[in-house]
Amino acid sequence: MVRAIVGANWGDEGKGKITDMLAKESDIIVRFQGGSNAGHTIINNYGRFALHLLPSGVFYQHTTSVIGNGVALNIPYLVKEIQSLVDQGVPAPKVLVSDRAQILMPYHMLFDAYEEERLGGKSFGSTKSGIAPFYSDKYAKIGFQVSELFGEEELKEKVYRVCETKNILLEHLYHKPLLDPEEVYGTLMSYRDMVAPYVCDVSRYLSDALKEGKTILLEGQLGSLKDPDHGIYPMVTSSSTLAAYGAIGAGIPPYEIKDIITVVKAYSSAVGAGAFVSEIFGDEAEELRKRGGDHGEYGATTGRPRRVGWFDAVATRYGCRIQGATEAALTVLDVLGYLDEIPVCVGYEIDGEVTRDFPTTAKLEKAKPVIKTLPGWKCNIRGIRKYEDLPENCRKYVEFIEKEIETPITMVSNGPGRDEIIYR
Ligand code: GDP
Repeated sequence: MVRAIVGANWGDEGKGKITDMLAKESDIIVRFQGGSNAGHTIINNYGRFALHLLPSGVFYQHTTSVIGNGVALNIPYLVKEIQSLVDQGVPAPKVLVSDRAQILMPYHMLFDAYEEERLGGKSFGSTKSGIAPFYSDKYAKIGFQVSELFGEEELKEKVYRVCETKNILLEHLYHKPLLDPEEVYGTLMSYRDMVAPYVCDVSRYLSDALKEGKTILLEGQLGSLKDPDHGIYPMVTSSSTLAAYGAIGAGIPPYEIKDIITVVKAYSSAVGAGAFVSEIFGDEAEELRKRGGDHGEYGATTGRPRRVGWFDAVATRYGCRIQGATEAALTVLDVLGYLDEIPVCVGYEIDGEVTRDFPTTAKLEKAKPVIKTLPGWKCNIRGIRKYEDLPENCRKYVEFIEKEIETPITMVSNGPGRDEIIYR
């Protein structure tokens, strides 16, 4: 059985926590897209962790953590992340890396930074982890697959060829130091030694696991609205954030994905630039930002303050639909306990007309939120374990969101910890 855990919003919905929780009953947890650009925060009995590349199942000894072919694989980062877990007392995780995963090269990070610098004020707000240059190279067919590390002669020849085109850009577009192909080759050789113990034919492995009746979790990064096709292009990430892509990025049949748990945040937050209709500003925003997540809304990778806003029913309903959500997990509900009234965005007004459908980017830029206000519950709901024990206004808020997103909310998360969850 395959389950996907994906985001309905702009990322940071709390997928890490839900994955860590559900990993308990799973055998294999797979990352299928993205790279080390976003982070998952996990709080469990070992402490507090910000994972970037490893799936959130690495804390259990019975699970195998898989980096699928769809991931942007930063090899030194992976090795460092595994080591940092061990240093913090977590038993060494079982990790497998797809032989078809492509390698994030040191120059991808340079190109990411150079391009942001060149764009100046018009930049995308990239985390400069090299993700966009990485996927550009992958689809331009000048990327390096893990499998290529093991054929030295062909590899060297390709490194020279790739450096030639990279150096033209470095010299004439960015006016930056050139790449030395021998040095790049040397780096790849050191990467080979680092990754060799983990390399695996992942799709074969997963196919066998499915035959044996194992439970597989696909862990998505970011959320629907950051998908390059269905999100707020061009302010999106460079690989698909949708559950459907899990089939490709892990190498499994699409029909094996039976359950798509879409993580929905009880309010909105986003990092980076792009239209954000229900965004709030000033003191109102600062208050929510300070109280948000488990230590305020600041990026797990960059520490940047996140943009925050009220729950956006238009964006989230769309986010659930485009994921193919079979169920939803509503997170960080506890954070809203301080409000007398809770505004939610129930429509977009675009050129004088109100719509409930999420539009393409140019229209989205013009959208103004139609706000409805629900009564708050004015208390701390942390520690509550039964749905019936939640205050009435809190349940009404959950049920209102459930109706709006047209997806059953099966889990309500009321704290960052592993067992701070209410099943419905
Ligand atoms: P992810 O990328 O979707 O895994 O999300 P992040 O880990 O970046 O952001 C979610 C943040 O919210 C983390 O700091 C979590 O510890 C925290 N968190 C998750 N669920 C809850 C919750 O129900 N309540 C509170 N207060 N914090 C939560």
